[in-house]
Amino acid sequence: MDLQLSGKRALVTGSTAGIGFAIALELAREGALVTVNGRTPEGVAAAVARLRKEVPQAEVGGVAADLSTAYGAEALLRQCPATDILVNNLGIFDPVPFEQIPDSEWLRFFEVNVMSGVRLARHYLPAMKAADWGRIVFISSESGINPPAEMVHYGMTKAAQLSVSRGLAQTTAGTGVTVNAVLPGPTRSEGAAAFFGKLAAEQGVSFEEAERRFFAEARPTSLLKRFIEPAEVAALVTYVCSPRSAATNGAALRVDGGVVPTMC
Ligand code: NAD
Repeated sequence: MDLQLSGKRALVTGSTAGIGFAIALELAREGALVTVNGRTPEGVAAAVARLRKEVPQAEVGGVAADLSTAYGAEALLRQCPATDILVNNLGIFDPVPFEQIPDSEWLRFFEVNVMSGVRLARHYLPAMKAADWGRIVFISSESGINPPAEMVHYGMTKAAQLSVSRGLAQTTAGTGVTVNAVLPGPTRSEGAAAFFGKLAAEQGVSFEEAERRFFAEARPTSLLKRFIEPAEVAALVTYVCSPRSAATNGAALRVDGGVVPTMC
């Protein structure tokens, strides 16, 4: 299928590693002009170099900006004032018992996971509507509809993204712009792999055994019974970014390995 992404400008936040990098790579392979983002110039330069190595003909740039603040968002928008496709991928997680999450952490999670995407969408959406074409994708999580007891604050932000995404989609009626959310399940990104590697070491077991236990005990409803690969999430996101997905708007699309045990 030709995804018709050649020449489209795409910005992917938090894309120097993990799911974001996989999305940037897939979009670049499809001919999009990709801007990657991370917090440090070094991390961004390394990601750009990796993308150019993987896709030599790709037109790739990068912006170093910490999107956890309004100031960081403004810095990014100065360097990347226009885009056809915005993928709000940036997100953090941290398993902490509810009783031990202070106000400051609730607010930090809201800033990083929700406001980073809100600020960018607020800037780009009017121009997309004026051009009668655009794509905004929020990378939420199965945790948005299946709140995790071990990080309630994270689940709150992922549910908020679903609401923002659907609400923005309501404003696009009659235009060629779509706004959707994609809900990955447990995915072997760098961040998640490091976390599970630490957990395995603490338990004195191999990564594979920790993975088996996780799906047996913590995510028994998974049909996939293994971590999702970032490229498997990127494949769905890239389709949603494509002109071919015009009839998909305001949707919450799962790429969760079947972990959410409902039909829709
Ligand atoms: P990751 O930790 O592997 O990668 C995060 C990326 O964000 C890195 O490039 C990092 O440099 C960048 N980043 C971190 N803080 C930043 C900031 N303040 N400003 C700019 N960039 C910053 O993450 P991941 O696991 O690939 O997750 C990506 C998204 O997918 C998140 O929104 C996450 O909630 C969601 N998700 C992940 C999983 C999973 O199991 N990995 C499951 C469901 C949803």
